[in-house]
Amino acid sequence: MTTPTSHPHDEFTCKEFVALVTQYLEKTLTPLQQATFEAHLTDCEGCATYLEQMRQTVQILGRLDESSVPAEGKDRLLQAFRKWKYE
Ligand SMILES: [Zn+2]
Repeated sequence: MTTPTSHPHDEFTCKEFVALVTQYLEKTLTPLQQATFEAHLTDCEGCATYLEQMRQTVQILGRLDESSVPAEGKDRLLQAFRKWKYE
C-alpha cells in the first residue's frame, strides 16, 4: 500500500482562498480552481463570510481593482465598506 504523494489541490488554505477571491468574482478561475474554491467555502464559514463581504464591496465600488485585494487589503476593504454604510 503506497501513500499518495501529491494532490493537485492539497491543503487549500484560507490564504489561497483570499488570493483567489478576485478571480472568483471576475469568473476567471479555471474549473478546477473554482471547484476547489467552492469546496473550501462549504467547509469554512470565515471564508464564506469574507466572500460575501467581497461581493458587497465589488457592488459598492462597481469593479474590482486587483491590486487592492490581496490578503492584507482585507481590512482596508472592510473599512471602505463601513465608511460607505455611514455615508
Ligand atoms: Zn477558509
